[in-house]
Amino acid sequence: MNVQIEETNEKKGLNFVEQAVVSDLKEGKNGGRLQTRFPPEPNGYLHIGHAKAFSLDFGIAQKYGGVCNLRFDDTNPVKEDTEYIEFIMEDIRWMGFRWENIYYASDYFQQLFDFAIRLIKEGKAYVDEQSSEEIAAQKGTPTQPGRESPYRNRPAQESLELFQKMNTGEIEEGAMVLRAKIDMANPNMHFRDPVIYRVIHHPHHRTGDTWKVYPMYDFAHGQSDYFEGVTHSICTLEFEVHRPLYDYFIDELIEEKDLVTESGYRPRQIEFNRLNLTYTVMSKRKLLTLVKEGLVDGWDDPRMPTLCGYRRRGYSPKSIQKFINMIGYTKFDALNDVAMLEAAAREDLNLRATRVSAVLDPVKLIITNYPQDQVEEMEAINNPEDASAGVHTIEFSRELWIEREDFMEEAPKKYFRLTPGREVRLKNAYIIECTSFKKNEEGEIEEIYCEYDPNTRSGMPDSNRKVKGTLHWLSTRHCLPAEVRLYDRLFKVENPSEEKEADFRALLNPDSLKILKNCYVEKYLLQAKPYDYLQFQRIGYFNVDKDSTPENLIFNRTVGLKDTWSRMNK
Ligand code: ATP
Ligand code: MG
Repeated sequence: MNVQIEETNEKKGLNFVEQAVVSDLKEGKNGGRLQTRFPPEPNGYLHIGHAKAFSLDFGIAQKYGGVCNLRFDDTNPVKEDTEYIEFIMEDIRWMGFRWENIYYASDYFQQLFDFAIRLIKEGKAYVDEQSSEEIAAQKGTPTQPGRESPYRNRPAQESLELFQKMNTGEIEEGAMVLRAKIDMANPNMHFRDPVIYRVIHHPHHRTGDTWKVYPMYDFAHGQSDYFEGVTHSICTLEFEVHRPLYDYFIDELIEEKDLVTESGYRPRQIEFNRLNLTYTVMSKRKLLTLVKEGLVDGWDDPRMPTLCGYRRRGYSPKSIQKFINMIGYTKFDALNDVAMLEAAAREDLNLRATRVSAVLDPVKLIITNYPQDQVEEMEAINNPEDASAGVHTIEFSRELWIEREDFMEEAPKKYFRLTPGREVRLKNAYIIECTSFKKNEEGEIEEIYCEYDPNTRSGMPDSNRKVKGTLHWLSTRHCLPAEVRLYDRLFKVENPSEEKEADFRALLNPDSLKILKNCYVEKYLLQAKPYDYLQFQRIGYFNVDKDSTPENLIFNRTVGLKDTWSRMNK
């Protein structure tokens, strides 16, 4: 890239992947075409790391007039399942992206098989009958060359016959593999005769029993890119060391089709840093273990870093996008602070969450000078950030629920909530003064008594009177019982993947879920729908759980109003 383009790109804030794409387009590479793909393996649900990857795949195509396809990298029938395919598509759509076409690596099994046959015939691949341990023992180290397999120089015809047998089911799993014959002394270990095919007798979710040999990642990924016409194959940094092999196989393929070289087409792999989040794991294997062993409530447990987990917990797609933009794309792996994701969520939910009242730990408050049967409808603003969200009403009466923690028997001077002899404002209603309280036999506060000032209702002459505290409340006769689920970090350590602890299960946070059964919410929430974004005033952002019904309301805490966690734990 010339200096001038680089300077303008940096001014525009383009990340290095975009810069590479822009410069390839400028140079007219690939006939000016731009094509990317998002290539998940259908062996689990997508997590927030995948969202970082596909935001770039789809985002770049969108921004520069290209095409992005969805390709299922389904080359290992043992771990994969069609179930996952549907959920992967749902999560990408939820994040707001649309693919052009759907492809499957398994669609290329025949082409890949034919390519392997060609390599064998050309003396560039051979069937090795050693065990995987023997093969590993001969690999050498980065500074020491490997040793050649005794099967390396067997006649091509022999390899051809054996490879066919591997594919008809006559050869047991693990008994033979096909290896590319490249260079056992290459400093890049991936060139030391990599295994390119193995025998698997498990039926494939799409191709059934047609194949008994399956290509390895390195023999499938680049070729699939090439067959599809992918111009920029964007992936994570761990594939950087695989890139020379990616290019090697592409070179071998291009040889066959001069036609394509003429157009100047050649896929290019570009690597960026993975997303790693504090207090969680991203490995699909570990996430699957949590699900299978019932340590979480399924893939969409709101504590999981999966996209369906975040959706169920009340994160908006925008908040996830915001976070991904905040951390950006670089060439250096890092551990991203989950507090940043939470900050992004607060910022976005502030704009879209409906403000309501909920009392999570109720204690009764009685306004002794308020008429017994009187009920007033108070106006509550749905969202001060969004005038178009309108208002709703909330009933006020003589007996209310307030939060237990909003009352103190003997309070210090700076306590701005309720305590005998002091005034507070009840949100959207009156100023009250605490006169007395009653305790039960265990010494717990049972009832709090107050008097209200009728001239202080919002909008009335005395309503501007200065009082320090404002409390939320619910009329006991006009509210609904609810279950509220409070979630915390899934793991108790910052980076569970780095811990010496052999069993990652031992690192789970035992207090990651607290279920509160005796909560109340305002009647207005009867009409709320699963996944609706809410703010329980003074408490945090919440949403309606997918299992919630009008008879049995369930809410999830998405994130608190403030970052109390890092203050408490650092
Ligand atoms: P596995 O652990 O099964 O290999 P994976 O997390 O690599 O799974 P894939 O389905 O192979 O999952 O990933 C699809 C794409 O998402 C790949 O291009 C991969 O590089 C990218 N990806 C996976 N994890 C992350 C992550 N944490 N951050 C950014 N991109 C990721
Ligand atoms: Mg992978």
